Amino acid sequence: MKTSLKTDITVKDICAGFVYNELEGKGLFGLSGKLTIQPEYQRNYIYAADGGKKEVAVIDSILKGYPIGLIYFNKVAEDKLEVLDGQQRITSIGRFITGKFAIKDANNMEQYFSGMAQDKQRKILQTQLLIYECEGTESEIKEWFKTINIAGVPLNDQELLNAVYSGRFVTLAKAEFSNSQNANNQKRSAYIKGSPNRQDYLQCALNWVSRGNISDYMSLHRNDDTINELKTYFDSVLDWASGVFRDVKKEMCGLEWGRLYETYHNTAYDPEQVAAEVQALYHDPYIKSRKGIFEYILGGATDHKLLDVRVFDEATKKKVYAAQTKQAEAKGESNCPLCVLGHDANKNKLWKLTEMDADHVTAWTKGGATVAENCQILCKTHNRAKGNR
Ligand SMILES: [Zn+2]
Repeated sequence: MKTSLKTDITVKDICAGFVYNELEGKGLFGLSGKLTIQPEYQRNYIYAADGGKKEVAVIDSILKGYPIGLIYFNKVAEDKLEVLDGQQRITSIGRFITGKFAIKDANNMEQYFSGMAQDKQRKILQTQLLIYECEGTESEIKEWFKTINIAGVPLNDQELLNAVYSGRFVTLAKAEFSNSQNANNQKRSAYIKGSPNRQDYLQCALNWVSRGNISDYMSLHRNDDTINELKTYFDSVLDWASGVFRDVKKEMCGLEWGRLYETYHNTAYDPEQVAAEVQALYHDPYIKSRKGIFEYILGGATDHKLLDVRVFDEATKKKVYAAQTKQAEAKGESNCPLCVLGHDANKNKLWKLTEMDADHVTAWTKGGATVAENCQILCKTHNRAKGNR
């Protein structure tokens, strides 16, 4: 890979012909059309997030004469450059110069570029940037690109995969899943954590359709002209989830909907009955994991572990153990009521508290409460046997 350091390119040069695409959330071109700011394998623009603190910081640095760090260009052809590292900074500068955001002046007043004093405007435009121009094969560049971190915000896994497998498929997939203006995002956000900008929706869609083998899938489909399979599968999962669970609950967000769809989509459910079950379980004070409610219902309400039902506290256990043991000693039988019913040596065995567990006399599923009156202590063997029934 060949590299050369350029120190004579100014902000004014870079911003000549700057275009910011609001819809895709990316800076497009600079250097009078010679520079592609956000090539396909690059992340979307994220410096405007969090109220734009990061983009304002870039402009403040320039005004104070602080360096804004090294920028890397990849020379892809004669007079054709792509930004490898620095696109967030360049987009910040371009957006400021084209009036997309304001900074605060010394009097805390909002100030857009066009309203600034001429000398300040000049200072910004004449600032020279430190730029490395690299020339190498696609794989050299990509390998190297994988190893660099973009100032302050490292590329996440999906952004790296987009870089490694850049091509038609990634372009189409990003247009569908990484576009923060997509009208479907509101529905998607009920089921998927994160943001389209940071590729969380794309990662989720790929993860579902590939059953977890994202990188294989991207490699296989790299040159596809369509994302039909990806999109159809993704939509099927969400349509199924919203069809079975009519009411959107916040605990639904981030569940493994792809796996749930694979496991349960051939089972028939009555949405009305499901909604009633969800409501009932949401009102059950003994359920600690509301997240587990959905899979619990899908699985036919048998796997109670998913709900993390509240267990008896230590004080209750000790109290019930003491009472049970005292009674057992008087009768000369085991303090495990199930051992008493047996015919082996354990019939009279007095277990230590550490050898026993608390159990609901009336099961939680049958309405039994987690209170001392509904607590009995069983030896570990019997408790486990009862729990597995
Ligand atoms: Zn027992």
